[in-house]
Amino acid sequence: MSEADPTTEAASQPACFHCGLPVPKGAPYQAVIDGQPRPMCCPGCQAVAESIVAAGLGDFYRHREGPARTVQELVPEALREMALYDQPELQKSFVHAEAGSVREASLILEGITCAACVWLNERHVGALPGVLSFQVNYSTHRARVRWDDSRIHLSDILKAISAIGYIAHPFDPGRQEAVYKKERGQALRRIGVAALGTMQVMMIAVGLYAGDYQGMDPELREFLRWVSLLIALPVVLYSARPFFQSAWRDLRRRRPGMDVPVALAIGGAFLASAYNTLTGGAEVYYDSVTMFTFFLLTGRYLEMSARHRAGQAAEELVRLMPATATRIAEDGSEERVAAVQLEPGDRVLVRPGETVPADGRVLEGQSSVDESLLSGESLPQPCAPGQPLIGGTVNIESPLLMQVEKVGEDTVLSAIVRLLDRAQTEKPRVARLADRVAGWFVVALLLLAAAVAWYWWRTDPAHAFAITLSVLVVTCPCALSLATPVAVTAATGALTRLGLLTTRSHALETLARVSHMVFDKTGTLTEGRLQLVRVQRLGQLTRDRCLAIAAALEQGSEHPLARALVRESEVRLAALEVRAVPGEGVEGEVQGRRYRIGSREFALGLGGRSRPLPAALEEETGTLVFLADGRGLLAVFVFEDRMRPGAQQALQALRELGIEVSLLSGDAERPVRRVARALDIEHAVSGLKPQQKLAHLKALQAQGAVVAMVGDGVNDAPVLAGAQVSIAMGGGTQLAASAADMVLLSEQLPHLADGVRTARRTLSVIRQNLGWAAVYNLCAVPLAVAGWVAPWMAAIGMSLSSLLVVLNSLRLRRIPGQ
Ligand code: ADP
Ligand code: MG
Repeated sequence: MSEADPTTEAASQPACFHCGLPVPKGAPYQAVIDGQPRPMCCPGCQAVAESIVAAGLGDFYRHREGPARTVQELVPEALREMALYDQPELQKSFVHAEAGSVREASLILEGITCAACVWLNERHVGALPGVLSFQVNYSTHRARVRWDDSRIHLSDILKAISAIGYIAHPFDPGRQEAVYKKERGQALRRIGVAALGTMQVMMIAVGLYAGDYQGMDPELREFLRWVSLLIALPVVLYSARPFFQSAWRDLRRRRPGMDVPVALAIGGAFLASAYNTLTGGAEVYYDSVTMFTFFLLTGRYLEMSARHRAGQAAEELVRLMPATATRIAEDGSEERVAAVQLEPGDRVLVRPGETVPADGRVLEGQSSVDESLLSGESLPQPCAPGQPLIGGTVNIESPLLMQVEKVGEDTVLSAIVRLLDRAQTEKPRVARLADRVAGWFVVALLLLAAAVAWYWWRTDPAHAFAITLSVLVVTCPCALSLATPVAVTAATGALTRLGLLTTRSHALETLARVSHMVFDKTGTLTEGRLQLVRVQRLGQLTRDRCLAIAAALEQGSEHPLARALVRESEVRLAALEVRAVPGEGVEGEVQGRRYRIGSREFALGLGGRSRPLPAALEEETGTLVFLADGRGLLAVFVFEDRMRPGAQQALQALRELGIEVSLLSGDAERPVRRVARALDIEHAVSGLKPQQKLAHLKALQAQGAVVAMVGDGVNDAPVLAGAQVSIAMGGGTQLAASAADMVLLSEQLPHLADGVRTARRTLSVIRQNLGWAAVYNLCAVPLAVAGWVAPWMAAIGMSLSSLLVVLNSLRLRRIPGQ
C-alpha cells in the first residue's frame, strides 16, 4: 500500500498528515485529529484538516487509503476560476435547470481513491445548506449534484469540495472515455503478463510432475523451481495487485469482500512456494498461483466490458451531438460555428448526412431523418416545415433549414443522458442484497478454511497447506458476486438499444414481477396526434373566434389536445391568469373575459347553464373538448385520434404473459369505450381525474397487485408516481420532465412485452447463476475438504464456474425476435 501512517514514513522529516508531503523544518502547522496533534506542511493543509475535523468528518483519516492530494490545487486562483462556473453561458452546456431555482449537474471528481473518499464527499457536500442531493458513483468517479441556486451557487459547492482536498469539474464525456480506455488497457496488460507467466510456469510444472514420477536430478529440480519463482513474481506483484489492494481496503472497512479469500489464496500459495523453494520443501504451487490469477483477471475483464458497454450507451448518445454547425447569418451567409455556441432562435443549415446539432423546428425543406440511435426506430421519419427536429438525429435526403429552439442541457438528448445516468448511480436492490450476503459468505468461507487447516494440520501436516489452498480457491465466491451485476447490465443495455430506457435501477426487477399493467388513453394507446374534425358552435361566437380563444388558453399546455388546438388557430391572442388543471382543462382570461376549456363538467364550472347537446354530438365517439364562459357553453371541438399501430398485438402479448391490462382515462365514456372495444380491454374506466386514477391504482395494489402504469410523462405524472413501476411514452419535449422509472423512447407498445420478457429472463438468469454457484460449491467443497482436489484443479473449477455465469448472463444481450 502506498500509505501507512504518513508520520512514520520518514522519521527525520515528518510527512504532512493530510497530504503526505514532507513538512519543512520548523514549520509550526498542526491539526488535532482524533485527539492527537498531527504535523501539517502548510496553512492550506492545516485549514483543510481542521475543516474536516470541524465538520465531524474526522473518520475520513481512519478510512482513507492514501494521503489527500497536494494542496497546490487549492491556491486562490483555482478558487477564483470556480466562480466562472456560475456564469449562465458556461453553465448552459452542463447544468440542467429545473422548476424554480433548482439546478442539477454532473461533475467528475478527481482524487477519489477509496470508498472513504466517497463517504466524506457525500457527507460534506450533502450537508451544505441549499444542496438538495449529492451522490458519488465510486466506479465512475462521477457525482450528480442537485442544488437550489437561490441558496447556494455552484462555485460554493466546488469550493466546498476543494476545501476537503478533492477537485471537481464539470463532467466531460471525452475524459470519461479516456478513463475507461486506461482501465481497459491496464486490465489487458495485467492479463497479458499473467497469461505469459502461466504458460511458462505450466510448461515447467509439467516437467516437474514428470520428474516426480520418473525421478529427476535434484539440482535440475531446484533450478526449475527457481525459474518458476522468477516467472511467477511479476504475475503476483503486478497482475494480482488489484486483488491485494481491494482485499486490503475491505479489511480496513471490516467488510470482507470476495477479494479477501482470493488475496489469501494467491499470496499464501506464492509465499509457501517461495519458502519451499528456498528450503527445498516438498511442494510448490506456482502453476496454481499464475493460473488462478489469469482466470480471475479474465473473468473480471469480461464483467468490466459489460459494465463499460452499458455506461457507453450514454456516452455514445452524447457523442451523437456534432461539434460544429452551419449557422445562417442575418444576411444569408453561411458560417461554421461550434455547436455549443448555438442559441435559441439561430437558423442552421443541416445538409444530408449531417447530424442535427440542437433541438428545433424545420423552416424549409422536405427530408427524412434517422432517429434510430435515439429511439431505436429504424425507419427514417419524414419531416417537413413546421415539424420538430431532435438534436442527434441524422438528416438523410435533402438539406433542411432549421430554427434552433433548445440547446445544451435543455435538449432531448441531454435529458436521455441524465436519465441513463441516474439509473447507473443507483445500485439495484438485488445487487445490494448480493453484496450483503457475499460478506457473510466470505466470513463463513474463511472460517471453513481455518477449520480445514486445523484438522489437516493435526492429521496430515504434509498435505495440510495444499488442501487448505484448494478449499480457498474452490470456494472463491466469484460466480456468486458476478451473478447479478453482469445479468442486469446486459439486459439493460439490450433494452436501451431497443428504445426502452431504464432510468431507475429497480425498474427491471419490478417489471419482472408485474401482474397488472394500467394504460392511459390519449397519447399512450392512441398516437396523441389529434385531428380536429369538427367545431360545433353553441353560442354567438364565430368558429374562428372560438378557435382563437381556445388556442390562447392552451398555449402553455403540453396536453396533446392543447397542442392540436394551438396548431389550428392562425390568430394569436394573449391569455392572462392561465390555470391548468391536469385531467380537466384550462381556465384563463382572454380580452377581459374568463373562459374555460376542457371536459364538459369542468367547462361548466364557471357557472354556465348546461343545455342538452345536439343529438349528433351525443353520438360522437371522438374526444370532445368544451369551451365555455360564465354564461354557458360556446363551442365543442371534436377530435379524432388514431390507435397506435401494434397496440392490439401488444396488449395481446401482455395478456399471454399473464398480465392483466386495464385502461384508466380522463376522457368521456364513448371514446374510451371505443378504444377498449377495439383493443379487447375488459377493465376500462372513463371520466377519471388524476386523483381518481391514483385511487384505482391504490385499490389494485391493496389487493396485492404489482402495477405498472404506462402514460405520458407530463400529464400523468402523479399517477405514474403511484405505480410500482412507471413507464412514460417518450415524446420529445415531455422527456425532460419525466420522472418515470422507464421511458419508452421508441413509442412502440410491443416493446413493453419485450421489456417484461427480458426482465423475467433476467431474474431467471440471476436465479440460474446463483443456483449454479450453490450446486458447484456443494459438490466441490466436500471434495476439496476431503483432500481430493489439487490446487490447480481447484483453480480451473472455480474459473469455469465464473465463466459459465458470465456467459449465461451475456445471453441477455440479445432479445429474441429482434
Ligand atoms: P387521458 O386519460 O385520456 O389521457 P387526460 O386525463 O389527459 O386524458 O384528460 C382528460 C380530459 O380532460 C380530456 O379528455 C379533456 O376533455 C380534458 N383536458 C385535460 N387537459 C386539457 C387541456 N389542456 N385542454 C383541453 N382539455 C383538457
Ligand atoms: Mg393522458
